[in-house]
Amino acid sequence: MSSNPVVFITGGGRGIGAATAKLFAKHGYDVCINYKSDQHSALQVAKEIEKLGIKAFTIQADVADEQQVKAMFAKLDTWAPRLDVLVNNAAMMMPQMPLLEMDAKRINAILSCNVTGAFLCAREAIKRMNKGSIVNVSSGASRTGSPNEYLDYAASKGALDTFTIGLAKEVASKAIRVNAVRPGLIYTDMHRDGGEANRVNRLKSKLPLGRGGEADEVASAIYFLASEQASFTTGSFIDVSGGL
Ligand code: NAP
Repeated sequence: MSSNPVVFITGGGRGIGAATAKLFAKHGYDVCINYKSDQHSALQVAKEIEKLGIKAFTIQADVADEQQVKAMFAKLDTWAPRLDVLVNNAAMMMPQMPLLEMDAKRINAILSCNVTGAFLCAREAIKRMNKGSIVNVSSGASRTGSPNEYLDYAASKGALDTFTIGLAKEVASKAIRVNAVRPGLIYTDMHRDGGEANRVNRLKSKLPLGRGGEADEVASAIYFLASEQASFTTGSFIDVSGGL
């Protein structure tokens, strides 16, 4: 068995999760990558990591489903003797619309994935951590509210921010730190799922830095918060949003 530290990344097969998986691998972490449906991308990330001589493992599960989350962590137990870092990264958004057009099915799907999923994964991770770190991937949307686009998604990230603050206090005595990053306008597939693949380019001129962000730039902030460099930081947030 490897004696490397272990990171578990939900939604680690694509976008910010994939960049985070590769960055932790470069820092000597064995990496467990969860995905929901895109097995091909998850396996590609694992292959790249294994080329570095680092162990990588992929597990399919819908983080919104409690039984699947339990089964996923049970599989993790067979693969890794320890868990040092959880990155609660998996999330979804749906096409832009005002509240007047939203129905309960849509709202509940967003909240189940983005909020309940993060709660369930944190719960299972904490059971396995002897000192550790959780980084929640929130969004600048928790501050802007995303009017006329995705109030549901933005509110789910507001819940994740509050969860970060409360959980940090709840598990501080176990030497587990809990922090969050709040990305904004990063080039990933998520905007396509939100119904506007070109959204970052449309809005980038409104950002003080005048450009969209890259997944690697978010991964750096996630890694910093998880690392010993941030050893006295808990219940905190890093905005990775170009100044907005
Ligand atoms: P992405 O490229 O669309 O990737 C999302 C990942 O989440 C995928 O790997 C997907 O799995 C996984 N996923 C979605 N629902 C899941 C579920 N129910 N169970 C398990 N995995 C699930 O998006 P991204 O932009 O990298 O987003 C990563 C995080 O950054 C999210 O929390 C998002 O809210 C946040 N964020 C992104 C931006 C941005 O501009 N891109 C801005 C602010 C915040 P599959 O690969 O199997 O589909």
